[in-house]
Amino acid sequence: MINAPDIDDPANRSTAVLTFGAVEVFRNSRFPVWVFDIDRSRVVWANDPALEVWAATSAEELLARDLSTDMSTSVRGRLQQYQSGFGNGVHFDEQWTIFPRGNPRSLLCRFRGCVLDDGRMAMLCEAQAINPDDLNLLRSSQALLYTAVMVTTYSTSGECTYANPAARRAFPMAEQAALSRFKNADLRAILSREPDSDAEGTYLSDVATSRGVRKHEVEIRQSYDPLEGRRNFLVTEMDVTEQEAAKREMAVLATSDALTGLRNRTYLASAAPAFLAAAARHGKVAALLLLDIDRFKFVNDTLGHAAGDTLLQEITRRLSEALPETALLSRLGGDEFCCLLAEEEGERAFLRVCTSILRQLRRPMLVDNNDLSVSASIGLSISENGMTTFDELLRKADLALFDAKGNGGNAVRAFRPELAERSHRFLLVDTELREALTRNRLELFYQPRVSFKTGKIVAAEALIRLNSPTGSLVLPGEFIPIAEATGRIASIGRWVLREAVRHLVTLREQGIGINLSVNVSPKQFADPSFLSLLRQVRPTLDGVQGDIELEITENVLVETDRRLQRVLMQISDLGYKLAIDDFGTAYSNLASLTRYPISCIKIDRSLISHKDFRLLVTGVMTIARTFGARIVAEGVETETQRLWLEKHHCDEFQGFLFSKPVPFAELQRMLGAER
Ligand code: C2E
Ligand code: MG
Ligand code: MG
Repeated sequence: MINAPDIDDPANRSTAVLTFGAVEVFRNSRFPVWVFDIDRSRVVWANDPALEVWAATSAEELLARDLSTDMSTSVRGRLQQYQSGFGNGVHFDEQWTIFPRGNPRSLLCRFRGCVLDDGRMAMLCEAQAINPDDLNLLRSSQALLYTAVMVTTYSTSGECTYANPAARRAFPMAEQAALSRFKNADLRAILSREPDSDAEGTYLSDVATSRGVRKHEVEIRQSYDPLEGRRNFLVTEMDVTEQEAAKREMAVLATSDALTGLRNRTYLASAAPAFLAAAARHGKVAALLLLDIDRFKFVNDTLGHAAGDTLLQEITRRLSEALPETALLSRLGGDEFCCLLAEEEGERAFLRVCTSILRQLRRPMLVDNNDLSVSASIGLSISENGMTTFDELLRKADLALFDAKGNGGNAVRAFRPELAERSHRFLLVDTELREALTRNRLELFYQPRVSFKTGKIVAAEALIRLNSPTGSLVLPGEFIPIAEATGRIASIGRWVLREAVRHLVTLREQGIGINLSVNVSPKQFADPSFLSLLRQVRPTLDGVQGDIELEITENVLVETDRRLQRVLMQISDLGYKLAIDDFGTAYSNLASLTRYPISCIKIDRSLISHKDFRLLVTGVMTIARTFGARIVAEGVETETQRLWLEKHHCDEFQGFLFSKPVPFAELQRMLGAER
C-alpha cells in the first residue's frame, strides 16, 4: 500500500539517517534514487534511473534545475516537516507526483533523512513507478495528502495508526496525536471503547494542537485496518475555531443591546428558564422587576436623542450598582429595563432592592451640562414556588408597572390578581371604544339646565353615551377613565367637541340660543393639538346666540401650572366659556381659582344629595359668589332641594327632578314646546 508514513510505528525509527557520502551505494540500483536539498529546492545527487525519471539530459543539467518554482507552499511545508522528523530516524512512504519538464509522473517514494556534508538535513528519495491501472487509487490518496481535513485512525487500544499530512501538521509529535489531545471527555471515552456503529457521530471538541488549543469538528466512523483486518476508528477533523467564534459573536450581537451593552429581551427570555430553575433548586424566591423611566420622552424631546442615550447609559450604570451581583439585567427597549432576581427572603428583599434603585436614580446625573434627576416606576412579579414562566412573570410585572405609572410614577407596585381582571376589562372596553368611534356608536345626550328666574331651559350639558352592539347604553363612568388611561380620550374628546358644535349650529338655525356645555378631560389640556382643534371648530361665539361652554374639573384648575394658565386664557380669548365642574369636591385653594375667566360654577351632586346639604351648599355658594360667575346646582332630585336653592339665590339647576339626560332630538322637542 501507498502513503502510510507511520510516524508512530517504532519499526520505522530503526532506519538510520544516512550521510551524504553513503548514498553512493544506490549508484547502481535499478530504482530511481536521488537526494533533495530541501532548503535549496535542488537535487544534489541522482543515479541514472533517477535522471531518466526527471527527464534530464545529464546529472549536471538536473543538479542545475531550480525546483522551487514548481513547488506549492503546501508541499514545501510538508517537506520542512519531514525534514524535522528525519532527525528521529523516521522514514515516510508516500505516493508522490513530480512534474519533470511540466509532465506529471507518479511514483511511490520512500523518503528518509540524509545529512549533507555541511551538516544540514536533506532527503533521500527511493522511487518506484506506479502502474497506470491504479490511477483512481492514486487520485484518492492524492486527495488524502492534500486535503486540509485532518484524518487519523486509531486502533482499539487507542493508538494512532495513521495520520495524513494535515493531521501531522496539527500534531507533529507522536504523543500529540494521542487521544488525550481531545478535551471533550465523552469523545475520549468513545474512542477508548471497542469500536462499534453506536460510536459514530459528529462532536465539537477543544483539541490541543501545534497552534495551541483549537476547536475541531470531529467526526468518528467505525472502520477496518486494511493491514491487520481489525476494527478501528477513522477520525476526521476540521478546524472550526474561527467559525465557532464568529457564531458566538453573532449570538452575542443578536442578544445584546448596542447602546448599553446589556443583554436584550431575546437573551433574557432564553436565559430565564435556567435562572428560575436554579433559584428553585437553591430554595430561593425568584422575581421579575420591570422598570420604566418616568417622563423619559420629555428628556428626548427637549435635550435631544444624544442626551437621551447618555442618560440611558448612566441609568444602566446606576442600576447595575443597585442590583445584587446575581441579578440578570437587560434592556427591553426604549426606557424599559427588566431584571431577574433571586433572594432567600422573597418579597421584602425585592422591595428593598427596588427602593435602593429609585434612590440611586434620584441622585442628580450630569447630562450635557444639565443636572437631571430621574424617577422611575417599577412593576414587580414574584414567581410562585418557582412555577411561574418568564412570559407570565413579564405580563404580571407589566400590569403592576401600569399600576405604578397610573399613580403618577416614582413608585413600586407588586402584582395582585385584581390587576389582571382590571386589565382584562380595560382591553374589552378599549376595543369597544375603538369600534364605537369608527362605527358611529357614540352619541351625545343632553341634560337641560333650568333658570330659577324664568323656569326655562337656558343651557344643556352634553353627556356621552356608547351604544353597545348588544343594544344597551354604556355610561361614561364606565369608559371615560379607561379612555383616559389608554389615551383614547384624545380622539373621543375631538369627536365630542365637533358633535356638540354641530348641535349648537343646528339649534341656532332654529333660532334657539342656549349654551351647550362639554366635559373636557384633564388629559386633553395637556395635548397641544386641543387648542388648534378648538380654534378650528369654533362657531362664531357671541353670547347672543348661545355658546359652547367647556366644563373643567376643579382639580385641573388648582394645578399651579403656568402653561395651563396660558392655555385657559387662550381658550377664553377664542370665545369659549369656562365652567368649573364638580365644584366643592377638591378642597382646593379656591382663592387661586379667581385668576381664571370662569363663567359658571357647577356645585357637585354629592353636596346637593348630602344630608347636611343646607350647611354645605351655603358655604360653597358663598365662595362661588366671589368669582362673579353663575351658580348651577347639579343632581337636583327633589322639590325640597329645588325650593331651598331657589330661596338661596342659586342661578340654575339640573337634575332628574326636571329631566334626565336625553337624546338631542328630545332636547329639541323640549325646547320647541317651551316657545
Ligand atoms: P358630570 O360632568 O358631573 O355629569 C353629571 C352626571 O350626573 C351625569 O352622569 C348625569 O347623568 C348625572 N346626573 C345628573 N342629574 C342627576 C341626578 O339628579 N341624580 C343623579 N343620581 N345623577 C344625575 P353621566 O352622564 O353618567 O356622566 C358621568 C360623568 O362622565 C360626568 O360627570 C363627566 O365627568 C363624565 N363625562 C360625561 N360625558 C363626557 C364627555 O363627553 N367627555 C368627558 N371627558 N367626560 C364626560
Ligand atoms: Mg359635567
Ligand atoms: Mg359635574
